[in-house]
Amino acid sequence: EQTYKVGNFMIKKEDLLVLKTTTTVDEALVALVEDSVTGFPVIDDDWKLVGVVSDYDILAIDSISGCSQIDRNVFPDVDLSWKTFNELRKILMKTHGKVVGDLMTPNPLVVHETTDIETVARLLLDTKYHRLPVVDSDDKLVGVIAREDVVKAALLIKRASERSI
Ligand code: AMP
Repeated sequence: EQTYKVGNFMIKKEDLLVLKTTTTVDEALVALVEDSVTGFPVIDDDWKLVGVVSDYDILAIDSISGCSQIDRNVFPDVDLSWKTFNELRKILMKTHGKVVGDLMTPNPLVVHETTDIETVARLLLDTKYHRLPVVDSDDKLVGVIAREDVVKAALLIKRASERSI
């Protein structure tokens, strides 16, 4: 059926926030917080999709840089929130001087405008990703389909099936 395809539910290119591999991680952090988006497609100058980066990758920066060992015994008796604050501060210090290309996931899993919403739902469930980039036949980014878009589609499908009973 024509209606329940990715193209009808995705966030379109013109409404998307996208990053380049050369965007600094510090800029990406600002975009994450100020635009309340949890992840971005990463493109080159021709809108070719090269990766995805999400808040998860920022949190994982600690293990990426090979320093995942958090010194748990530095403050054995101080209160937990202080320890948490220090651990987070260490993560944020590691973002300094890094660019999106260093922590993005390259060659991400993608779908097309013609992909069924049902297929997307299955992919999102299997992978636990929050969103999938949508590309055209030249691998250029045309949109993003997120969990919430699939849930919206599911509601429409439910309403349509109730009407037809
Ligand atoms: P997310 O679910 O978007 O927070 O991403 C969780 C992890 O999976 C991060 O390391 C992302 O870079 C990676 N990721 C997110 N979306 C995709 C995708 N479509 N293909 C491959 N990796 C992805």
